[in-house]
Amino acid sequence: MRSPAWMWDELLLACALVVENGWRELREGDRRVDELSDLLRSLPLHGDTARGIPKFRSTGSVSRKTTDLATNHPAYPGKATRCGRLDREMIARFTADPDIMLKAARAIEAGIGSGELVQIPEQPDEVAEDGATALEGRLLARWTLARERDPKLRRRKIDRVRRIGQPLQCEVCDFHFGRFYGDLGEDYIEVHHVLPLHASGPRETKLEELALLCSNCHRMCHRSHAGESWRTPAMLRAKMADYGALSRPRYTDDAC
Ligand SMILES: [Zn+2]
Ligand SMILES: [Zn+2]
Repeated sequence: MRSPAWMWDELLLACALVVENGWRELREGDRRVDELSDLLRSLPLHGDTARGIPKFRSTGSVSRKTTDLATNHPAYPGKATRCGRLDREMIARFTADPDIMLKAARAIEAGIGSGELVQIPEQPDEVAEDGATALEGRLLARWTLARERDPKLRRRKIDRVRRIGQPLQCEVCDFHFGRFYGDLGEDYIEVHHVLPLHASGPRETKLEELALLCSNCHRMCHRSHAGESWRTPAMLRAKMADYGALSRPRYTDDAC
């Protein structure tokens, strides 16, 4: 049985190692290769069957992947090994934004190390509608979405907003579910992490780090687009203002 193809999160961890090694490959026998092999074998991505395959993310396959990533870097002087499209995309991401990618790798490692990330079930929207994974990877998207859906955290945030007398409405576009859907929409709002885990690190969430959003603005904050994997509510608001969407009268049907 063949090992399953490398997924984005796995490549992210391998590429982080290559970057920290000065864009050089790591050989078998290197302690860091052993550790990455163990970590990859424990990720909740491929199910238990993969772990039964002896070569699945073995030290040999991990070392080979670091060679592919290192030799396909545009600045590598020698001959490149054969690699896939995802490998090349990963090299480009790390070249464009090494800090955020290294932070993402650290956050995944921390989540696996603490056991927290292993317990979270797959979330329905951790993969985008076109099948693509967020730039920070599937596991961090999963973790962020699970935190946002944590009923206790939601309750605390909503109670806090109520206590200070603010309406439960979208912080970006002011949409208020109750005003549009009556008692059906009363109390409905989505809770969003202003900074996702790959940017904030896996610290405990504070209420100030959560924003209230309507479903449309929430999706637009998470949507990967044009090399960006997310945007804060303030960034989304600025984008809408640029586009003129906030200056037009809202929620009226255009007569056409
Ligand atoms: Zn909104
Ligand atoms: Zn969100």
